[in-house]
Amino acid sequence: MIPLFKTLFLLLLLVIANSGFAKDRPSKIKEFENRLDIIEALYGDLIFEKFGAPLKINKMWNVRQVFFQADVDEAGEPNIYLGGGALILPKYTPDVFTLIVCHEIGHLIGGAPYKTEHHYSSSVEGQADFFAASCTSKVFENKRIIKTKPQSITDRETDEFCSHRDIKIGTNDSCMRIIHVLSNLFSDNLKKSGDLNSILNMEFPKIEHTLNQRPSTVCQIYTFLAALSGLERPSCWYKKEVRIFGNTPMREFPTLDSDAQKVWNFWDQRLSLPSGLTPPEIYFYSFQRHIQTNEFTQWQSHWLLGNTDIWSDWADLKNKNGQSMEITREWIVKNVSSIFPFPKTFLAFHYDRTNRIQMNPERTMLSTYQNDPYGIKRDFLGAGYYSMGHEMLHYALQEKVSIPTKLHHCLFVTPHPETGRMLIDDMAQFLVDEKLSATSMIKMGPSSETKMDPCKRMNSDEISLIQKTLKSL
Ligand SMILES: [Zn+2]
Ligand SMILES: [Zn+2]
Repeated sequence: MIPLFKTLFLLLLLVIANSGFAKDRPSKIKEFENRLDIIEALYGDLIFEKFGAPLKINKMWNVRQVFFQADVDEAGEPNIYLGGGALILPKYTPDVFTLIVCHEIGHLIGGAPYKTEHHYSSSVEGQADFFAASCTSKVFENKRIIKTKPQSITDRETDEFCSHRDIKIGTNDSCMRIIHVLSNLFSDNLKKSGDLNSILNMEFPKIEHTLNQRPSTVCQIYTFLAALSGLERPSCWYKKEVRIFGNTPMREFPTLDSDAQKVWNFWDQRLSLPSGLTPPEIYFYSFQRHIQTNEFTQWQSHWLLGNTDIWSDWADLKNKNGQSMEITREWIVKNVSSIFPFPKTFLAFHYDRTNRIQMNPERTMLSTYQNDPYGIKRDFLGAGYYSMGHEMLHYALQEKVSIPTKLHHCLFVTPHPETGRMLIDDMAQFLVDEKLSATSMIKMGPSSETKMDPCKRMNSDEISLIQKTLKSL
């Protein structure tokens, strides 16, 4: 049992701690909310655009735990949740708070690479940090925030790093302030790993895939320094690779992701694609709106608004008199949520001017996945990889040559003036060599594309542009 005086003493201490905490609590809340307002002003529109709903900031100041979380709820609306524990612990200064909230915003709108097998396209942890670097420096450059710059945040080394390097994001001051935050958060690691420049020269172990989860602390520091210096995403968490999402037929095709990578590598080499090019993202959804996530539908609707031709190409739209309708942007805005232009029978589709490909899993990968004589399911044809390669070629050409998309299919089936081979001949041969497709695909694939006669409606200018382009490939 604890003697009475000791209990009293403990109680007293608690009261003191609480009253101290209570005294600066309102001002800390005000300071935190100030930062949230600035962040919201910076990114509110982008968030609304992506999710079709405003960001909900759940300030749970009365919960005494430290948590920061971004999520998309069942209604498809973006949320961040902030626990009140950060108000109690002195480590969470307003500057530290800013950087962590920026990281959470990064999950929502930080862009690719996204976490695989996640219920919304949440940027991976490393990408959220990469985004946080620019978000934080924007907040630190805000007029109201510049005034709150902590005293003595700089030491010689930080000053040198921020003034002598080519800082690509923010100002020297915001750079120093961010590094100060990092050293608050990761002080031990910053000391252990030596000076800032040596962190940037560190070699990290090779990774097999982009990390969904949080990388090592040194790698996190590296990520911020790299972002500030305008360097590429660091290889300690990022790997340039094809990413697959949605209802991926991974159970039937356990090596789907590495096989998709092989197909992309083929085009990368065959067409000598630009080295900085982002690999494609493949979304496995049948072309039915109710099957997709709301977020994908939101993204797709956006794309559809900007691409009027799709509607007249695939949707059978007639007016009251039975004539084909002219599709205007206003018409799309009015009807985009009720009408879907893609037929269910669609195999796959590349979204023009993006790196996104949609594949119907049932009609591509799984369509030739059948019982063998022993009752074991197999993919007899590898038609799915052929479709995938076809869509990747659309994306590759978009990035490699300037030729209108409507000429693509004709380009696919036009024999090269010197070798006499079509681009899709080379692809089919590759798929067979790699055992991704059966031998019969060498004939079947290209002949089915040739049969559609995509060069039928081309005029002579278009044909000569195709010939010229082919020669350059
Ligand atoms: Zn995170
Ligand atoms: Zn196509």
